[in-house]
Amino acid sequence: MNVLTDPKNITHIVNSSLGYATHVTMLDGGILCLDCVDENFQLLLEEYEEAREHGHIVTETQWLVNCVSSNEENEDLYCSHCSNKIESIY
Ligand SMILES: [Zn+2]
Repeated sequence: MNVLTDPKNITHIVNSSLGYATHVTMLDGGILCLDCVDENFQLLLEEYEEAREHGHIVTETQWLVNCVSSNEENEDLYCSHCSNKIESIY
């Protein structure tokens, strides 16, 4: 079963990561930079609430956050939405 992260927790997770969080990984494997998370926060929230109402039955097309991630050494990682490069922390 896939695990969803409540978008309301993203800011908290990012803030408590001491700068190590660089992006979020979506359920479909896509990458979203933190700027896009901010810009699309309402959408992420709505999609999450909808998935929750349906007992976490999710579809590929939904904007659902799997987890907050850290780019440790990938020099070739880009946001799936805005195509900005996601810098690695090392
Ligand atoms: Zn982006």
